[in-house]
Amino acid sequence: ALTESEYIWMDGARVPWREAQVHVLSHGLHYGTGVFEGIRAYPTADGPALLRLDEHLDRLFRSAKMLRMTLPHGKEELRAATLELVRANGHRSCYVRQLAHLGYGVMGVDPTGAPVHVSIASWEWGAYLDGADRGVRLMTSSWRRNDPSVVPTAAKATGPYLNSALAKLEARDAGFDEAVLLSTDGYVSECSGENIFVRRGDVLYTPPSSAGALEGITQDSVTALATDLGLTVRRENLLRSDLYAADEMFLCGTAAEVTPVRSVDNREIGEPGPVTGKIRDAFTAAVTGADERYRHWLTYVG
Ligand code: PMP
Repeated sequence: ALTESEYIWMDGARVPWREAQVHVLSHGLHYGTGVFEGIRAYPTADGPALLRLDEHLDRLFRSAKMLRMTLPHGKEELRAATLELVRANGHRSCYVRQLAHLGYGVMGVDPTGAPVHVSIASWEWGAYLDGADRGVRLMTSSWRRNDPSVVPTAAKATGPYLNSALAKLEARDAGFDEAVLLSTDGYVSECSGENIFVRRGDVLYTPPSSAGALEGITQDSVTALATDLGLTVRRENLLRSDLYAADEMFLCGTAAEVTPVRSVDNREIGEPGPVTGKIRDAFTAAVTGADERYRHWLTYVG
């Protein structure tokens, strides 16, 4: 269940949580015409800090451009609104959801003339995946990942998440924690809301965005942390069998953070491994401001 906060920012004003409503004929509700971001704020010695806020805002604007959506607010305005909302809601840590969607005004798939609405919500959200500490159990979905020739998979757009929801439901119904989606070509793409890392020997592998995976900001953070730990990281296509042959495997994403994987399609990978542990520890130190080398990733709420 969702933990309600006091306020949501909507189209330039702070409104009470329950008053942040839209019309049922909103274009985005019917056709999935929206783009969004998820950002976490972590507790630090100097109060809550948003992790990689700039990169998330940049991706929001890139996603909007891919859908030919013009946001009625600039980056600086959305940055300030996000910080102000987290402050007003009084969180020590939280998850922030920014959404730009097409609203009420026109019907039919042609989005021309539909108004663009922007909202920012924040709430306190714990571990995203069940079983995160002992390692999650994955299954390969029968649904292929959205193909980059069908929708711009690099955009974090709302409509394409139907693909994720179907895969997640299928995995849950089959008794697994999360789904792995393969690309049309049969390469490993990503999970329903996380990027994938596999360790084989001394090398960490993660699929490229050409396999339909989102260019994850946590994926980028983990790549930097792993490199600084002396590991080699390669962005390469992976086969389903590369997952079965992994020495270690973990998922990463804003909501899921760094989550170890225990098995894929009932092939055991095992308990969370040593490299996964090191990366989790390095991630925690970075996001809480304990490791000064990554302070530039943090925007303090103040
Ligand atoms: N892939 C998908 C499909 C996602 O929804 C997410 C979460 N935004 C990710 C990957 C991870 O991206 P990030 O690390 O930027 O949150």
